[in-house]
Amino acid sequence: MKHEVPYRCGHTGTRIIKGDESAQKKWLDTLAAQDCPMCWLKAQPVEFSGDRNNRVTVHRGYPIKEELKARGYRWQRPLWSIKFRSSEGVASELVWAANQGYRVQWPESLPPDLLSRGAEIASARPGWMIVGPSK
Ligand SMILES: [Zn+2]
Repeated sequence: MKHEVPYRCGHTGTRIIKGDESAQKKWLDTLAAQDCPMCWLKAQPVEFSGDRNNRVTVHRGYPIKEELKARGYRWQRPLWSIKFRSSEGVASELVWAANQGYRVQWPESLPPDLLSRGAEIASARPGWMIVGPSK
């Protein structure tokens, strides 16, 4: 049955809830105790990751989409991405992102000197992660 859900964040949304009346009521109460899907999405951490093709992609970039556009990122569902000419471009973009406080995945496919730079920053900033070669 269709319900108007009054979410915790103050937004409302239409949801179809199945089951008997008490099950519907229970699920409705559960949903009402949560943020709406868009607010939930906005609260997820923005994450930048670089790959071996000199591309930086941004996961959950919706809250900063204007800034991403201004930096030359393009939206291609479900990600924002930008392509650099070199791995140095990737590295400096990731440094920028980390300095903004965003979570960053530093690809192991970068040249050793840039990798060691990433490792240096990672040790100084607990939010940083170094991950294996990305696709
Ligand atoms: Zn909301």
